[in-house]
Amino acid sequence: MAINCRKCKHFFITWDTNAPYGCRIFGIKTKQMPSIEVFKSSGRECLKFEKKDEAPQKK
Ligand code: SF4
Repeated sequence: MAINCRKCKHFFITWDTNAPYGCRIFGIKTKQMPSIEVFKSSGRECLKFEKKDEAPQKK
């Protein structure tokens, strides 16, 4: 299963409706999740995943 880029700190949303998802590490904008493109072009899962800091919980 592809890595969930939404949980990665390198993921961002672009304003491009044709390619709404982006990855800062690979410098790509994609229609699908960037990790899917990475997998397609390299044949391997993305190795650069870094978990995004969660918003602090309210007490
Ligand atoms: S570094 Fe990997 S997991 Fe993170 S956004 Fe880019 S492709 Fe997705």
